[in-house]
Amino acid sequence: MREQLKTLAEMQLLDNAIGRYKVLQQELPKQLNELIEAVEQATADLLAGETEKMEINKKQRALEGDIKTFQDQARKYGNQLSEIKTNKEYKALNSEIAYLQDKISEIESQLLELMDLENEAKAKNLELKKALEVAEGNKRAKEGDLKAQIDSLENKIESTRAERNKLAVTLPVPLIKRYGNLIKNKDNLAVVANRDGSCGGCGFVIRQQMRIELQLQKKIVYCENCGRIILDPITEDSEED
Ligand SMILES: [Zn+2]
Repeated sequence: MREQLKTLAEMQLLDNAIGRYKVLQQELPKQLNELIEAVEQATADLLAGETEKMEINKKQRALEGDIKTFQDQARKYGNQLSEIKTNKEYKALNSEIAYLQDKISEIESQLLELMDLENEAKAKNLELKKALEVAEGNKRAKEGDLKAQIDSLENKIESTRAERNKLAVTLPVPLIKRYGNLIKNKDNLAVVANRDGSCGGCGFVIRQQMRIELQLQKKIVYCENCGRIILDPITEDSEED
């Protein structure tokens, strides 16, 4: 009987390992996705930043074009001044020129503001480019390892399951079935420890009579509440069942 109890404890350890592999089967693909998504996000951010800078540059070119148009116009008016006959016309043309020059200096201050914005955008894009490089570096560094781990999990689960099944065949069939059902229905936990007089699975208090049975290790003790197999630490003395 002690041998059976030991086998049950070993099987539970193997099922614990299988449980951990299954958690990794959920977690590792998420981590892989995060790496990929981080690169995608950083790429999108940089693209948005570059688009923003292009729009600033477009505005700059448009305003520079306006300045040129106004300057040409002002020069044309300036040339016409010498041909003016009346004082009234002279004044009118002069005020046109003054108006154009006001316009030009207004646009020049807009261009200065845009230059500030352009410099900010350049600095920001430099940061975004660095962030992208970091994300890409991260992906390069971890992707292969994660994929290999993900690929190996199925095999690990299979081999651990095979190891557990090899132990299981040494047990009576009804016990194997009960163990299997507990693993399936009780959070992958069929065998639990006696934890200070309570079931290590559900915390239900173990009756005195059952505590004695646990110590004797002559029969399998099931929790009266959750049905899990409760074990005391397996003693290593040589007494036969
Ligand atoms: Zn219990």
